[in-house]
Formats: sequence, C-alpha cells, structure tokens
Amino acid sequence: MSDCLFCKIIAGEIPSKKVYEDDLCYAFYDIDPQAPTHFLVVPKAHLSGPDAVTDENSAVVGHIYAVIARLSKELGLENGYRVVANCGKDGGQTVGHLHFHVLAGRSLAWPPG
Ligand code: AMP
Ligand code: ZN
Repeated sequence: MSDCLFCKIIAGEIPSKKVYEDDLCYAFYDIDPQAPTHFLVVPKAHLSGPDAVTDENSAVVGHIYAVIARLSKELGLENGYRVVANCGKDGGQTVGHLHFHVLAGRSLAWPPG
C-alpha cells in the first residue's frame, strides 16, 4: 500500500527504531510511548486492521504472538506486558495497517478507558 504509514516504515522510507524483523513481521518502538516499554509489531504484508484477519491470512497473527513472547524475554519484561490491537474508530485505531501494541514497564489499568 503506497499511502500506508506502516508500509512506508517497513520499506524504510520513513525512519523507525527497529526492535526486531523477520520475513513476516517488523517490530519498532512507538513514537508516542504510553509505557516505559512500548513497541508495535506489524505484519509485513498489508492488512488494514484486526477486522481484515481471515482464516486464510491469520497465520501471521500467531507468528506475531510467538515473536512477542520471545521479545518479552529478550527485553526483560518479566513483570508482564499487555498486547493491544485497536480496531476501527471506537477501538481507537488511527493507523490502517494491522499492528499489535506491546506495553510494559508499569502497572496498566484495567478495564481500559
Ligand atoms: P493505533 O492508535 O492503535 O492505530 O496506534 C497507532 C500507533 O502508531 C500510535 O501509538 C502512534 O503513536 C504510533 N505511530 C504513529 N506514527 C508513528 C511512527 N512514525 N513511528 C512509530 N510509531 C508511530
Ligand atoms: Zn500498510
């Protein structure tokens, strides 16, 4: 998607602070962190959001969760973390490329506001 912010980040056309990368996904620190550790993990193939996940393309979601579990150990997030995928207007989604927030380093309120 030529006009997608996260596709441009994946392509290196917009700079980002990389956490991890493989064939299927890219992880980078959020530009406006909401916790001491806050990074995003995105599939390299453009999907517009959680509501674009299907039985055919959902394997990348499991892969991303496995990557997050591995990164959480490497980054020392032993106190826990939260994974969030916002969807649509009421869900607070502002970027139309599926992304998983990983937030850690402080106690996070539940339920969210
Ligand atoms: P959401 O509101 O769930 O769609 O999340 C989008 C996230 O992308 C927000 O937390 C933003 O701070 C983050 N974001 C927007 N632009 C950039 C960027 N250039 N680099 C890193 N994170 C960004
Ligand atoms: Zn995209």
